[in-house]
Amino acid sequence: MPALHPLLRNSLIAVATTAVLAGCASTTAGSVAGGQRSQLMVVSEAEIVQAAQQAFAQQNAKARAQGALVTSGAEFNRVNTVMRRLVPHVAQFRPDAARWPWELVLINTNELNAHVMPGGKVTVYTGLLRRMGMTDDELAVVIGHEMAHAFREHSREQISQQAVGDLAVSLGGALLGLGSGGTQLAGIAKQVALDMPYSRNMENEADIYGLELAARAGYNPAAALTLWDKMAAAGAGQGPSFLSSHPSASDRTARIRAALPKLMPIYEAARRR
Ligand SMILES: [Zn+2]
Repeated sequence: MPALHPLLRNSLIAVATTAVLAGCASTTAGSVAGGQRSQLMVVSEAEIVQAAQQAFAQQNAKARAQGALVTSGAEFNRVNTVMRRLVPHVAQFRPDAARWPWELVLINTNELNAHVMPGGKVTVYTGLLRRMGMTDDELAVVIGHEMAHAFREHSREQISQQAVGDLAVSLGGALLGLGSGGTQLAGIAKQVALDMPYSRNMENEADIYGLELAARAGYNPAAALTLWDKMAAAGAGQGPSFLSSHPSASDRTARIRAALPKLMPIYEAARRR
C-alpha cells in the first residue's frame, strides 16, 4: 500500500475518530476454499457506502461528459446479465449484500481494467471486453472477483487499517477540527477504489470468493486459469487498481488449481439445476 497523501491521511484520522469502533470481526461466511479471518473495521459501513456512492456518481458524470459512459446496448447488457446472475448468490456469504443496489457501468477506454467501489458499484473498461475476447465464464470470474472485494468490504478494512495506523502516530492531527464531510469521504472512497492497490491477501480472497460465486451461478470456475493467463500475457497490471498487487500468474494458477476440486462440484450442481 503506498503512502497516503497528507490531506487524505488527515481525512482518515477525522473519519476514524468519529467512527464507531466495530473492532475485529469477519463480516462474511467463509468460502468452501477458505478465506475466513477477522477484519479490523473502525469506520462505519454506512459512511463508506455513502462516500462511495458520491465517488461513483462523480466518476460517471466525468465519463458522461467525455461521451464515454456506457449504460445500455449489447456490450453493457452482456456484462450486466453476468453480474445479475451472480448477485443472488452473494447471499451464500452475506444475505444483506445480496440485497445491495449493485450497479454496473462501462467506461469506453482502451484500458484492461475493472474496479469496484464499496456498496457494489462495479466499473468495467471496454478495453477489457474488446481486447481479451472473453467468454461469459471468464467474464464471470472477473465480475465475481470485483464483487468479492465489495462484499468482503476490503476498502473499509483498508481505510480502517490506515486510520488506526495513523492514529497511533499522530492522534494530535485528529484534534485540528477537520470535518469528515461527504465530499472529503467521497475523495477517500475514490482514492481507495482507484489508487490504492489491495493487499495480496485481499486479492487471493477475492479470487476464491469470486470463483465460488461464479460456480454457484453456473459459470465454470476453471475459466479462471485461462483468464488470468491471458491477462498476464496482455500485460495487464499497469493499471492502478485491478492487477497491480495481484499475485504472479504462476502463484495464482497454483492456488486456483488447488481450489478447483472444491469448486467444480458446486458448479456441476448448479449446471444440473
Ligand atoms: Zn482484485
